Amino acid sequence: MKVGFIGLGAMGSAMASNLIAAGHLVTVWNRSSEACAPLASLGAKVASTPDRAAQGDVLCSMLADDHAVRAVILDSGLLDSMDRGTVHVNHATISVALARELAAAHAERGLGYVAAPVFGRPEAAAAAKLNILVAASAALVAQVRPLLEAMGSRIWPLGEAPERANVAKIAGNFMLASAIESMAEATALTRAHGVSAADFLEVMTSTLFAAPAYQGYGKLIAGQQFKPAGFPLPLGLKDVSLALAAGEAARVPLPFAGVLRDSLLEALAAGDADLDWSALSMVAARRAHLDERK
Ligand code: NAP
Repeated sequence: MKVGFIGLGAMGSAMASNLIAAGHLVTVWNRSSEACAPLASLGAKVASTPDRAAQGDVLCSMLADDHAVRAVILDSGLLDSMDRGTVHVNHATISVALARELAAAHAERGLGYVAAPVFGRPEAAAAAKLNILVAASAALVAQVRPLLEAMGSRIWPLGEAPERANVAKIAGNFMLASAIESMAEATALTRAHGVSAADFLEVMTSTLFAAPAYQGYGKLIAGQQFKPAGFPLPLGLKDVSLALAAGEAARVPLPFAGVLRDSLLEALAAGDADLDWSALSMVAARRAHLDERK
């Protein structure tokens, strides 16, 4: 298939390279052009503007957030430059409100729109092991399935309305943030009583919490491995804020999301924007003044 790919960050560059490896003809665009060079060396064409990347059968995008998606996809006039029948697959974690707006803007112009946010960090993206949530008409999902299968290990259809995939992604990340925060607070507690984070998390993640989220983030917390950030704190704050907004729109209280938002803000206020969101464990340790104790 002829595929455009916009947004070559930690996730997008790995996803685009898997499309190339699967034999698709890929044209890439990124705001900072230096990110295009590694893809060009794998065989991608490089577009000088986003609309030039959008002239194939399908356009995939993996931009940072609502602001970036609005700027590149909606405000730039990109959609008006696309041929009717072209399909846009949006992989970014964006708000439910923007997902609805995008679906309408594509439909007005006779373009297909598929919401396909993903679970999996950049290592999973590189290994084509993403879990891809997908919401669009069955026909559109069938059309883009070969692309999704080149980037993910499993595709999870969630219905026709695109925002369904986005709300599921947002709710899932809220659960991940909750897991990190609860491990952060629990390890602060055990450390204050002499049991190291590594010893405690080894027990928990081998027994009652032997699940990938706890095991993966537990390892980062035990080893205080917050750099390089697979998922930086500012993206965590973005996603928890998306959960709060989606909750407010549907009158769903999310009291724990408020706690997470403040912990993430505290980490950012301490100057830790370049750290992985598992660094929430430093916030819990600081609150307990663990490092100042004798
Ligand atoms: P990233 O490395 O920060 O990449 C962000 C991309 O968006 C870059 O291509 C960046 O371009 C572009 N961008 C940002 N603002 C822009 C703007 N105003 N105009 C044009 N382009 C803009 O982020 P990522 O980790 O790849 O994440 C991408 C998306 O995937 C996010 O929605 C994130 O929540 C989601 N996600 C991430 C992970 C993860 O573990 N990292 C996992 C699942 C889902 P430049 O290169 O020019 O800055």
